[in-house]
Amino acid sequence: KQLTSSQIRQMYLDFFESKKHDIIPSASLIPVNDPTLLWINAGVAPLKKYFDGSEVPNTPRIANAQKCIRTNDIENVGVTARHHTLFEMLGNWSIGEYFKEEAIAWAWEFLTSEEWLAFDPELLYATYYPEDTVTPTIWKKQPRFIETHLVPIEDNFWDIGAGPCGPDTEIFYDRGEEYLDIAEDDPENFPGGENERYLEIWNLVFSEFNHMPDNSYQPLPHKNVDTGMGLERVTSVMQNTATNFETDLFMPIIQTIENLSGKKYGTAKETDVSFKLIADHIRAVSFAIGDGALPSNEGRGYILRRLLRRSVMHGQKLGIKDAFLAKLVPVIGNIMGEFYPEVVDNAAFIEKVISAEEAKFHETINGGLELLKEIMVEMEAKGEKVVSGRQAFKLYDTFGFPLELTEEYASEHGFSIDKDEFDVAMKEQRERARAARHQAESMNVQSEVYTSITVESEFVGYDHDTANGTLNA
Ligand code: ATP
Ligand code: MG
Ligand code: MG
Ligand code: MG
Repeated sequence: KQLTSSQIRQMYLDFFESKKHDIIPSASLIPVNDPTLLWINAGVAPLKKYFDGSEVPNTPRIANAQKCIRTNDIENVGVTARHHTLFEMLGNWSIGEYFKEEAIAWAWEFLTSEEWLAFDPELLYATYYPEDTVTPTIWKKQPRFIETHLVPIEDNFWDIGAGPCGPDTEIFYDRGEEYLDIAEDDPENFPGGENERYLEIWNLVFSEFNHMPDNSYQPLPHKNVDTGMGLERVTSVMQNTATNFETDLFMPIIQTIENLSGKKYGTAKETDVSFKLIADHIRAVSFAIGDGALPSNEGRGYILRRLLRRSVMHGQKLGIKDAFLAKLVPVIGNIMGEFYPEVVDNAAFIEKVISAEEAKFHETINGGLELLKEIMVEMEAKGEKVVSGRQAFKLYDTFGFPLELTEEYASEHGFSIDKDEFDVAMKEQRERARAARHQAESMNVQSEVYTSITVESEFVGYDHDTANGTLNA
């Protein structure tokens, strides 16, 4: 079947409307009344109030497409075929009404029926929690389901640390041997293992418990269903693409970056990572700003700042010298604006914020290069040729200069860098971040922001061979 991402999203909503679900709009990416979360990271996040019984919904059956941001996946972007910072989660929920029987039957019907997505049942697998003996018997009852395609997995217990939780069953799509990126006999070679062949598309969570602040598990007053399916992943299956990025959700952004850089997507692995990363980050940033987040030095704002800076760095890698990120905003509006009008309605504001931040970062880059030049002039006078690791670290820490960039620039002028000392300084900073994180945890503050800061300060990648000559002071 030939379907666009918009058609798939709409089909999903139509399907669950036909199953008597109330179709609700996506909530904002910024959590409301939920200090435990930095971003809405799953469709269920804004619905927690219904699951723990603190509020009663109009109807017990709900479905929607929810925009989500996951900072824990940022380092995967462009590396795996399937991870994004911002993605759309298609979800259907039962608040104390239908349970495993209906949830599994409907998921199967939507995926395999000729009327809907018509996926080949031979390519679908289902994982389940070993102690949950009901789920596999329900799977075996589904028409054309292959019984040997059931995989027990100890990890299949969904729990975000607070609120509703319980066993889950996940649906995987076999993309074919050609996508296997590990050895045939690798223990990870199974649906649910760490590999690129079996793609997780849909998670059905059967929430029966409430994870309490004291870490106990209390039975919920009513059993619920919470499902989430990644639109980008289903679209990649439907459009038969190598990664999510070649689907109609990303290609127009990538093509615009091709025009701006004069480089072609699909010609080298390394430049492809930059294309993917920029296309991913600009979506997250645009939606986040559209929902009211602004770049800053802490919390949500810090994440936006890192995403933007990382995008600028990768733009430089592609040879884009001038500010360019704001030009991608209207492209996102074209792709997603019909369903998410906020990204079109707020486009002028989003572009303004991005442009200002980008200009500021260009100044920072230039400031960093100035400092590096000064350091080199001083050293020249002393007849030294090795830039100290502490100074390289200062460039990294204050100006966001990856070590490779500093090295590249220094070597152009006949200088080298004391990398061991840089590593020591880096390690010290990580330890400081870890200490801060522990402190935050003991204060019962959500640690996501600290985690992201440590993770993100490790992944500002800037590779040797391409850094050369792309930055000019
Ligand atoms: P994975 O194991 O691939 O990281 P997950 O198990 O963390 O996925 P869930 O928390 O189960 O994902 O979320 C439900 C669904 O949302 C997934 O089955 C997937 O289709 C989609 N999804 C999750 N994370 C991402 C992401 N970073 N980018 C795109 N889609 C995602
Ligand atoms: Mg994940
Ligand atoms: Mg998973
Ligand atoms: Mg999952």
